[in-house]
Amino acid sequence: GQQRKSGEPYIVHPIETATILAELRMDTDCIIAGLLHDTVEDTDVSAEEIRSRFGNGVARIVEGVTDGPKGVPDETNQCALLLAMSMDWRIVLVKLADRLHNMRTLGAMPPEKQRRIAKETLKVFAPLARVLGLYCIKEELEELGFRYSEPEARVALARRMDELAAQQ
Ligand code: ZN
Repeated sequence: GQQRKSGEPYIVHPIETATILAELRMDTDCIIAGLLHDTVEDTDVSAEEIRSRFGNGVARIVEGVTDGPKGVPDETNQCALLLAMSMDWRIVLVKLADRLHNMRTLGAMPPEKQRRIAKETLKVFAPLARVLGLYCIKEELEELGFRYSEPEARVALARRMDELAAQQ
């Protein structure tokens, strides 16, 4: 019964996150972890319960995502992400898929929050996607990051592109 800020049922978010992971041809544990990535944080389901129902592999990824960086951007986040990368790169993949879906639905957030999350995305997550060779995700994160962090510049740029196209 939970809903997101956009008014969408909350379940859409984990399903979309898992779908991104499936499109990347990630393994079963990783896709299941994508479905469950917010449960320990947002519900009273424990990591132990996830372990007993879905196995150690899924539980470890969900725990890694839960313990990892979230919310407010700072330098510590980047260190934590790098640490996560050295532990299990599937954790980073779930975080990237989570971020990509959050960026796709960022329009529902207040402008100040949009800008902050977009800047963090450009600073941390797009470079991470590039390092992992996930160029489609990198480009989408950059496009969305630019749209929400520099909305005026983006409008001006789009207008100029239209003008140039009209001159051809
Ligand atoms: Zn999430």
